[in-house]
Amino acid sequence: MNSIIEKITDVIAESPDKICYKNGSVTETYRDLGQKSDRIANFLQDKFLPEKSPIVIYGGQQFEMLVMFLGAIKSGHPYIPVDDGSDPQRIIQINSVAKPSLVLNWSDVEDFGIETPVISKLELIEAMNSDKNIYDTAKSIGPDDDFYIIFTSGTTGTPKGVQISTNNLTDFVNWVDSKFDYSADTNLMLQAPFSFDLSVFDIYPGLTNGATLTVVDKNTTKNFGKLQEAITNSEFNTWISTPSFFEMCLLFRGFDSVNLPQLNKFIFCGEELTHATATKLLKKFPKAQLYNTYGPTENTVAITSILIDHDMLTKYDRLPIGYLKSNMNHIIYNFEKGDDGYLTGELMVSGPDVSKGYLNNQVQTEKAFEIINGETFYHTGDMVSEAPDGLLFYKGRTDFQIKMHGYRIELEEVDSMLGNLDQVKQSCTVPLYNNKKQVSKMIAHIVLEDQFKTVDELELNSQIKDELKTTTMDYMIPNILKFVEQLPISKNGKIDRKALIGEINA
Ligand code: AMP
Repeated sequence: MNSIIEKITDVIAESPDKICYKNGSVTETYRDLGQKSDRIANFLQDKFLPEKSPIVIYGGQQFEMLVMFLGAIKSGHPYIPVDDGSDPQRIIQINSVAKPSLVLNWSDVEDFGIETPVISKLELIEAMNSDKNIYDTAKSIGPDDDFYIIFTSGTTGTPKGVQISTNNLTDFVNWVDSKFDYSADTNLMLQAPFSFDLSVFDIYPGLTNGATLTVVDKNTTKNFGKLQEAITNSEFNTWISTPSFFEMCLLFRGFDSVNLPQLNKFIFCGEELTHATATKLLKKFPKAQLYNTYGPTENTVAITSILIDHDMLTKYDRLPIGYLKSNMNHIIYNFEKGDDGYLTGELMVSGPDVSKGYLNNQVQTEKAFEIINGETFYHTGDMVSEAPDGLLFYKGRTDFQIKMHGYRIELEEVDSMLGNLDQVKQSCTVPLYNNKKQVSKMIAHIVLEDQFKTVDELELNSQIKDELKTTTMDYMIPNILKFVEQLPISKNGKIDRKALIGEINA
């Protein structure tokens, strides 16, 4: 049997009545998770699909999605989670790259426009409630087989399918156990869509520990009133999200430790945790543990972590992403060494969390994964600085580095400086290109803190630029400040810089 499944099976045997899933008034037990996923495994093995062929699982954040994920693994098929908010073109692209043997469709979509056989929700409900639950565990997904395949957003070009094996996932689960103390008493907020690997921070470390997953789904997050109610009346004690999602919730009255005394752990991943956001959090939840974690999908969710406390806030203007997992190796590629002894360059990592590559995409795999002395290193595309003791600081994506008038500028560094000003709640700076494809201007899109929204824009403009002048070089100061109500957020809940670049240069 698969080692992750084995751990979940132990939990089911020990506490079958424990609630494993909660979404509004819907609650589901570990017993149901076990029984229904056994039946799905039986149903899938009865189809005699090509061995280890991937299966697309399409839907939202329902309990049945988890049932199907486990059913697929038990039956011997890696799964590809696709969110039902994706546009139809995406499933066509994923289908042509992954060549899945089946689509399990937990939605009302009737036709995906693909030739791969699709199993409807009705058939799936029937299978989940049948009395056939026997499957051959010898055929289950093994240690080095793919467990899941998550497709990158693919805003440019064809999406790439990141293959994560059972071994990759097991190492991640063990690391979460050692760092974040999940237990049967843990109640996790699960907000990320299942097609975004941030959700894996909840699902497998949670289920293997007998925790409860409290889902805050898309329908809830889309509706301000519903979301406020879900958050301020919540019972979860561990928060997992992108910083952008947390920022959105900061508006809610009652979102603090007085009203939510049980909420004592916050884990962030997926994008930069700004000093301003962390400061606000520790004001509202002074005793909470606040962790910044970092990692690309290709390295199984997260590979660095650090506890951010008041001392950290005093010490650093731009917060560290933490220390790399102790069983991983890394290289700072093309580095420059500063006077302080810090090395700055692209982070490359190798070790048990690194994916074997992109499914059916040799060309992209060879571009991103490099074998050095027999070890596979992944090029993260992230610029980092490493302190002499190994503490890492995120500096920005290598592809968000621009050249303007000869100066190399990290757009995220500009935003980090803007974020330190009192007026700025969030910002996203993007380049404007001229017809020679050179950057002619930097435009900062700024969401103001509420108390500055009534200030005259010309006045704000000079205030902000004058303040920046005291902390940075002239060439780092955005040419244009645009005050906006909100920034575009991607489906995964991150600030969508690429969308804004497209919009500005359309
Ligand atoms: P994804 O593969 O969609 O999870 O995106 C991974 C990318 O998000 C990383 O390569 C980083 O560029 C960014 N990222 C993730 N975590 C952090 C963090 N804590 N701070 C800054 N950037 C982050």
